[in-house]
Amino acid sequence: MVNYDLIIKNGTIVTADSIVQGDIAIKEMKIKEVSIGKPIEATADKEIDAKGLHILPGLIDTHVHFNEPGRTEWEGLETGSRSLAAGGVTTFFDMPLNSTPPTINKINLELKSTAAAEKSIVNPRFWGGLVPENIDDLKDLHENGVIGFKAFMSPSGIVDFNNVDDETIYKGMKEIASLGSLLAVHAESTVICDQLAKEKQSQGKTTARDFVESRPIISEIEAVRRIISYAEATGCKLHIVHASSRKVVQVINDAKQRGLDVTVETCPHYLSLTVKDLEEKGAMAKCAPPLRDAEEVEDLWAAIANGEINVIASDHSPAPASMKTITDNFFEGWGGISGAQSTLNIMLTEGYFKRNLPLEKIVELTATNPAKLFGLSTKGKIAVDYDADLAIINLNESFELKNEDLFYRHQHSPYVGMTFKGKVKTTIVGGKVVFENGQPMKK
Ligand SMILES: [Zn+2]
Repeated sequence: MVNYDLIIKNGTIVTADSIVQGDIAIKEMKIKEVSIGKPIEATADKEIDAKGLHILPGLIDTHVHFNEPGRTEWEGLETGSRSLAAGGVTTFFDMPLNSTPPTINKINLELKSTAAAEKSIVNPRFWGGLVPENIDDLKDLHENGVIGFKAFMSPSGIVDFNNVDDETIYKGMKEIASLGSLLAVHAESTVICDQLAKEKQSQGKTTARDFVESRPIISEIEAVRRIISYAEATGCKLHIVHASSRKVVQVINDAKQRGLDVTVETCPHYLSLTVKDLEEKGAMAKCAPPLRDAEEVEDLWAAIANGEINVIASDHSPAPASMKTITDNFFEGWGGISGAQSTLNIMLTEGYFKRNLPLEKIVELTATNPAKLFGLSTKGKIAVDYDADLAIINLNESFELKNEDLFYRHQHSPYVGMTFKGKVKTTIVGGKVVFENGQPMKK
């Protein structure tokens, strides 16, 4: 009789289309058996009793900034990946910027992937960058396994990662289309944001509200419309990251209706925080595009319920607390929200419990869709021959998030102080437990 590496017994198994009681058997990093309604009769080196607990495919966070190599004083692959494990995330896609050097050529990609192989306790994948200087490097990056390419339509805030001009967009998208890859964009209008920021600051208007008003929804819409036109002109597959409003999602939806291959991400902070939080929490809750008002939050949840959003990702973009102190000018201070550990908590608390979002939908947005969209053919599902990447959660357990619960390099987050319902108990990557009893493993 077969001896498995691990059997998870008596759990409630959640996938994108079903919730069932059953056992899961794992061998050599893969799910080998899923038994619905009757126990798996086999031995195993390790057993986990998941009675009363829910088992989800491990989350795939398609948008994090771990800043390694070169800026590990902000975060790092070890601390970043341990925080993901604590949040039930089993795979991440690291963005090409905020690490130094940025991931804009093959050599830089190798530096990052070597560091990740050494330090990450969950599965790492990498975005390549599209910047005005690296069109000739895209092919190399693609052939060396980047998940896709990321460009900024407005300044990135990082000196070694330039935003793209329209000519770079056109040439880059043509090249990316020919590679069969996709382009993800930070879509905000430089002109609109710059002009408004200048106007505000010249009038001494520097509050949180002023900052938000300097980056209005129409600035996202303008950039999204423009990049969609380029997608149409070049045939390049497009992914819009961190849409902050359903009004932006609507523009993308219209393009989808016309048959364009375009998808959209939103983030937990746009689903749980508002301008009021920004006023109260300060730079801890500062990001771009900025937080919006409460009606926009509700509209985004409606968009999710209506199937208009493809992916939920954290856009974890941490920085030391010293960069998060604002004196009296909200335009100063680092923009970027530290939140990767809490994505599932927010989706469960604000989505499942507060707004009746089905668990299956949460799995679809955080695991199944990301796997499908980015070609991870053995991830995102609990089924035979899929990778044994799992999150085991207790939906009945509530807790208040405290700074000391966070495994980031810098133990702060705008979510600290929030009470979450639903707690990650165990995280499994490739059949191996990487988080249990409140502690992520050390590599
Ligand atoms: Zn980002």
